[in-house]
Amino acid sequence: MRELRVQTFLIKLRALLRDRRKRGFVLLPLLLVVLILVVWIQIASWPVEEPPGALVWLKCPACDFFGEMQVVDLSDGSYRCLKCKAKLGYPRKCNKCSYEYVELPQPIVFAKDATKAQKFAQLEDARRCPNCGSTDNCTISLAH
Ligand SMILES: [Zn+2]
Ligand SMILES: [Zn+2]
Repeated sequence: MRELRVQTFLIKLRALLRDRRKRGFVLLPLLLVVLILVVWIQIASWPVEEPPGALVWLKCPACDFFGEMQVVDLSDGSYRCLKCKAKLGYPRKCNKCSYEYVELPQPIVFAKDATKAQKFAQLEDARRCPNCGSTDNCTISLAH
C-alpha cells in the first residue's frame, strides 16, 4: 500500500517536472532554499572582528601573577593585576646580566624643543635594565 503511494507520488512529481509551467513551482522554492543556504554559509564564515591591541604577556610587580592580556597602551595604567590590582608591566629580562624584572611603561613626554637625538636618548633611557643599565633586554613569555 505504502509502496503504491510512493510510486504514485513519483509519477506525479515526474509529470510535474515535465510540465514547464508547473516545473517553476517546484524548482523556484528549491532554488530559494539553496540561495538562503549559500547566504547563511557566507554570513557564518565572516571573520569575527578582532579586539583592538595585541595579546601580550604581562607580569605583576607585586605578586606572582603572570598572564596574557589584550593590550592597546600599557602606559595608561588601566591594566591591573587580576589577583592584587597592582599595575601590570612587561616581563623583561636583561641579556647582559640575566636580571629579570617588570617594566612599568610610563607615558614619555618630550620637551618641546627636544632634538631627534634627545628624543632617541630619552626612549633609550626608558628601557634600561634597572640592574646594570644596559638597553640590551627583551620581553619574556611563559614559553621562554
Ligand atoms: Zn598582583
Ligand atoms: Zn642588566
